[in-house]
Amino acid sequence: MSPIHLALVGVGKIARDQHLPSIEKSPDFKLVAAASHHGTVNGIDNFTSIEEMLAAVPAIDAVSLCMPPQYRYRAAHAALSAGKHVFLEKPPGATLSEVEDLHALAAARGLSLFASWHSRYAPAVEAAKGFLASTTIRSMRVIWKEEVRQWHPNQEWIWQAGGLGVFDPGINALSIVTHILPRPIFITKATLQFPENRDAPIAADITFTDAEGLDLSAEFDWRQTGKQSWDIIAETDSGRMVLSGGGARLSIDGVLKHAEPEQEYPMLYKRFAEIIRAGRSDVDIAPLRHVADAFMLGRRKFVDAFHD
Ligand code: NAP
Repeated sequence: MSPIHLALVGVGKIARDQHLPSIEKSPDFKLVAAASHHGTVNGIDNFTSIEEMLAAVPAIDAVSLCMPPQYRYRAAHAALSAGKHVFLEKPPGATLSEVEDLHALAAARGLSLFASWHSRYAPAVEAAKGFLASTTIRSMRVIWKEEVRQWHPNQEWIWQAGGLGVFDPGINALSIVTHILPRPIFITKATLQFPENRDAPIAADITFTDAEGLDLSAEFDWRQTGKQSWDIIAETDSGRMVLSGGGARLSIDGVLKHAEPEQEYPMLYKRFAEIIRAGRSDVDIAPLRHVADAFMLGRRKFVDAFHD
């Protein structure tokens, strides 16, 4: 099968760390162009805007959008309007409505829209889903605590409205939780902590439940120094499940059951190729909906100013 001609938009950290190496190795895609205000990719045509790129390179079949979420809709709309399939980095947009609008546009044009959730492709996530389906869950705790200075240096957009603050990593946890639980969940209570000089939260405590009264809570915090935590712990009738390392490792009652090398982005590109060839979209907005609900229902607490 001939490769899908791909263009990358927003050449920043995730584009360089993950997209470029995964595209390079993918049998399904050939990178033909990139658009970014400052970033460039060697060996292909580079442009400073998506509009300029789409006009100059008609051979593009699909685009991957790796800019901050506040700027994704306009680029996605331009690409779909020009007849291109679209891969959206997570979160798929700054609002639920704009993602739904893109989904409808893709459907109307017969194009594929992929709202990617890379953490769902972490090595032990499917094994965790299988384990939880085989037992009764008594409670679940999500602990996602990392040091923002280490993981997001100089990223101003992340602290601006629509940048999601601590929900930028937290939404990865929610993408896993919404995938591995057997029933839909919803928020009953939340407290969001905003640095007094920022428009996005630095920490959040959230309580969820489901139709059966599940006891589920999540702690997201960007002030964690030392050991970093990306863990989901469930007490079940078949023992204590710990899904750690952001979905990398699964253990039950302290016994390691699943740990394989991480392949999240190669799997995302495999999935993108699959949906393009099948003529369908893959858009699940559940993780973004929970973040919106946390902003809607959550109490706001102002905490110390954050300085880089
Ligand atoms: P980043 O390093 O700030 O890169 C984003 C790039 O987008 C910038 O380098 C910038 O390149 C471009 N851009 C376009 N319009 C922009 C604007 N108005 N303001 C700022 N930059 C703009 O961010 P990132 O870490 O790659 O994250 C991008 C997206 O990927 C986010 O949605 C994030 O959640 C997601 N993601 C990140 C990671 C990670 O580990 N960093 C992991 C998974 C997913 P130009 O200046 O050249 O236009």
